[in-house]
Amino acid sequence: MSNTEQTLSIIKPDAVERDLQDEIKEEFKKNGFSIVKEKKIHINKSEAEQFYKVHQTKPFYNDLCAYLSSGPIVVMALEKDNAILDNRQLMGATNPKEANEGTLRKKYGISIDKNSVHGSDSVENAKIEIDFFFKD
Ligand code: UDP
Ligand code: MG
Repeated sequence: MSNTEQTLSIIKPDAVERDLQDEIKEEFKKNGFSIVKEKKIHINKSEAEQFYKVHQTKPFYNDLCAYLSSGPIVVMALEKDNAILDNRQLMGATNPKEANEGTLRKKYGISIDKNSVHGSDSVENAKIEIDFFFKD
């Protein structure tokens, strides 16, 4: 049985700054994802705080929100069978140092905070996150 899903992907400021967005988009396509929605934007700190609200009690929350709003990002809705889990696998571990060979964070990530990509972690959050950026 097929299980077509959409997941939210973000190419984070460290990767956009290094002009990696086309290369990373190719990786998604090569791995079977269709980019069904896409925009390049620069969000402000309060928008980042809203997006990462689930992390508001974490010690890294303030730095994380400052970082996500520090420069342009590319936000995308990616679609394929089992998109949510497959994107998490393609991205690799949160800390690039722990990410498997061949994953996006291993290839492009600089550090645990500058780890180049975001991906939704559940069906529920994918819907919330896609609506957050594309609800018009
Ligand atoms: N993060 C961080 N320090 C930490 C843990 C996470 O800066 O100790 C950042 C990192 O950029 C990560 C984001 O916060 O991508 C969200 O954390 P989460 O645990 O949800 O990781 P992800 O789902 O992105 O792998
Ligand atoms: Mg997460």
